[in-house]
Amino acid sequence: MPPTTEETMSEHHWDAIVVGGGLGGLTAGALCAIEGMRVLVLERHDKVGGAATVYRRKHLDIEVGLHELDGLDAEDFKLRLWRKLDLERWIEPISEGVLYEVRHGDHPPVVMPEGFEPAIQALSAQFPDQAVGIHRYFDTLRTIQGAMKTLTAEYRPAGWWFRDLPRALVALIPNVRQSLDGLLRDCFGDDPRLPRILAANLLYYADDPRKMALPFYAAAQGSFHRGGGHYLKGGSQRLSDTLAAIVVDNGGQVRTRRQATRLLIDQGRIAGVAHEHAPLLTREGPPPPPTGEDPQTDTAPVVLGNAAPQVLADLLPEPQASKLRGAFQGRAPSISLWALYLGFDRPPADFGVAHYATFVLPESFQSPRDWASQAALLGEPPTRHSGQQLAFTFLDYSRLGDTGLNREGRMLGTLTGVDRLENWEDLSEEDYRARKSAWQAQLLERLEGCFPGIGSAIVFQEFATARTMAKYLNTPGGAVYGFNPSPGEFRPPKAATPIPGLYLASAFGAMGGGFTGAMLSGEQAAKEVLALW
Ligand SMILES: Cc1cc2nc3c(=O)[nH]c(=O)nc-3n(C[C@H](O)[C@H](O)[C@H](O)COP(=O)(O)OP(=O)(O)OC[C@H]3O[C@@H](n4cnc5c(N)ncnc54)[C@H](O)[C@@H]3O)c2cc1C
Repeated sequence: MPPTTEETMSEHHWDAIVVGGGLGGLTAGALCAIEGMRVLVLERHDKVGGAATVYRRKHLDIEVGLHELDGLDAEDFKLRLWRKLDLERWIEPISEGVLYEVRHGDHPPVVMPEGFEPAIQALSAQFPDQAVGIHRYFDTLRTIQGAMKTLTAEYRPAGWWFRDLPRALVALIPNVRQSLDGLLRDCFGDDPRLPRILAANLLYYADDPRKMALPFYAAAQGSFHRGGGHYLKGGSQRLSDTLAAIVVDNGGQVRTRRQATRLLIDQGRIAGVAHEHAPLLTREGPPPPPTGEDPQTDTAPVVLGNAAPQVLADLLPEPQASKLRGAFQGRAPSISLWALYLGFDRPPADFGVAHYATFVLPESFQSPRDWASQAALLGEPPTRHSGQQLAFTFLDYSRLGDTGLNREGRMLGTLTGVDRLENWEDLSEEDYRARKSAWQAQLLERLEGCFPGIGSAIVFQEFATARTMAKYLNTPGGAVYGFNPSPGEFRPPKAATPIPGLYLASAFGAMGGGFTGAMLSGEQAAKEVLALW
């Protein structure tokens, strides 16, 4: 029987619409849905997850954007949302008990174990002359992290206001404007040896320690040290699919291949979203133009914006568009990344790969400040010299045992480094491909230099650049971590925007980027929405 007009109307009205199916949007949507809100998620890609997706090529499952998820221990900020959504039941974290290995030039590799104490002990044993600095560094991370936990605690015990709060503020306030670079200099002076190792994974947040806010770094890096770095069995796609399933199981809808084209405003506040059939994103070539097909409108008093604020502003009419742009003016997008996805027919361990995550720094790489010049390298065709300057991480997923990926004898390995869209955006399609394959060849040569013979086991390769990230995520500059976490930009979390009814639920949101940041931003948005519901 065809639906009555009333039923058709009610199908188009929701309590909240999520624009973009990345982790932040899915988390916000799931948290609202379990509280009884009717939620619609619109995602332009053919699967949910944004950077948290897995795709299939020639019998190989390729993990797009999960190297390591921090924490998941009892102190983790995101544990409460993890539990609220019952994710422990569906998501199995796996790790090898080592955070990462650092290979700097021809120097002996240094291994960073998981856990604060094991890290302090291992590093103090190798660098006894820096033991004081090492303790100071880890104490600072722990203190700031504890303060942030106190400030964001949901449960505030008796005495919180006059005992815990002042203590947290005393710990945090002197560090609010501090940078990571400042902390490293305070602890180690001009000696770059420890900073190089401690911030070897800086590309998980930013590319310049001078422009990296210490509180953000302390929360994220501290969580890696304390709780470890985990992969998730079944890949990031399982996490994204689980969150989407929670929305659906609680009366919501998740629609892929739907591109939001306009945010509707009524009497100054959000009233709904117009959307249309999205073109299929293809591996090669620029993003296809809008289809204009199957336009639809759904109404809701709340929009949870998972797309970047700049993208949301483009969907708004005036004066709301300018208002939203104004609210985020001057905030630089984060770095983007390049990623070379490799399929192996033999385990990389056969060629000397000793850990899941290996950070490879060239001999010329002195201090973490050298990350800042990394992105520009790909702005030119490679030379033998520039190819040797690249710093990168190599992830060997086969070291984790059963990841739920790597079927049919193929094993996934990924090289990743810092990138910027400016490196690629003005190139013709032909020049883009030529430069990409030249860099790809250089990267394989570098990998071969580190692990002789490994090239013979490569049966598949695919290179993604900042241009790929911009195409698939629709973020300005192909940013993968929202806004750059610059010093001084640390502020009390707030997801609401100047447009009534519009909230940010993404890496650009209240709690920053990465899996944890995006999910916590989603949680913050849900909290603010539910408080008014
Ligand atoms: C190669 C790589 C490695 C990474 N490694 C790690 C790691 O090891 N650990 C970690 O914590 N983080 C890592 N990250 C970062 C992390 O994946 C991201 O910060 C996080 O997933 C971003 O989530 P988000 O909610 O902001 O959404 P995004 O992932 O940015 O997704 C946004 C979604 O919105 C959709 N969208 C945009 N515009 C529209 C529109 N108009 N209509 C409909 N849909 C729209 C997009 O299609 C996309 O699906 C990595 C990222 C990459 C790319």
